[in-house]
Amino acid sequence: MPELPEVETTRRGIAPYVEGQEVTEVLVRQPRLRVPVPDDLAERLVGARIGGLTRRAKYLQMPVLSVPTSGIADATLLWHLGMSGSLRIAKVGDLPKKHDHVDVVLASGYVLRYHDPRRFGFVDWQTQDAALDKRLAHLGPEPLSDQFNGKWLYTLSRHKRVAVKPFLMDNQVVVGAGNIYATEALFMAGIDPRRAAGRISRARYDALALAVKEVLAAAITQGGTTLRDFVSGQGEPGYFAQRLNVYGRQGQPCRRCGSELRRITLGQRASVFCPGCQR
Ligand code: ZN
Repeated sequence: MPELPEVETTRRGIAPYVEGQEVTEVLVRQPRLRVPVPDDLAERLVGARIGGLTRRAKYLQMPVLSVPTSGIADATLLWHLGMSGSLRIAKVGDLPKKHDHVDVVLASGYVLRYHDPRRFGFVDWQTQDAALDKRLAHLGPEPLSDQFNGKWLYTLSRHKRVAVKPFLMDNQVVVGAGNIYATEALFMAGIDPRRAAGRISRARYDALALAVKEVLAAAITQGGTTLRDFVSGQGEPGYFAQRLNVYGRQGQPCRRCGSELRRITLGQRASVFCPGCQR
């Protein structure tokens, strides 16, 4: 499933091909995604120019300048990759493969192509004022921003009995700490995932915030090496296997202390941790 680092890698991979480009054609082969493809997608995109891509949590934001000379975006498209979606760059004339549902054809001769076998992703217009878009309004801070730090986690967690792992995975606490990254960050910070969020010290939250930043930044850096894969003919884009210390390694020895890694269920999610290193 594409997580925040993959979405950021996608943004960086496609940006050089779409930013500043005029849209000449839109092809929708399958409109039934998680949210139906808007009926007016082609009408509003053709003749418009694409602005600078941004990302919020796992949403890719694509500003659309319908009067290209104005320089002002008057609409924004929101892409979400769902469980199995990907955006890549094809060339005009490259035949679509199965599950290539949407093409945005650009004046340069490149095509932004959306592929999604399970169709849990979507493309939709964002509410013009992002603060009012219900998909974005209640999201917590970006993990790599200064707003996300130990003080934030400490303050937010006081009097909370929920275990620290589901607390960290809550999108209102921070975005992007999916199961893999929360599992790895808790190991790196030496915190038992079952510990009550409200009973963890400020110093340990400082370490946890740093660990979250470190695992996500490493994944984004690693994704950077796959950027060329976003252009047609060079395989699947950007979804990479990271070297993981605990996630998926239940029953194997801890790389730090040699204890056997344990698997438990927390907040309905599988969780692996080291009983030797995580307290
Ligand atoms: Zn250990």
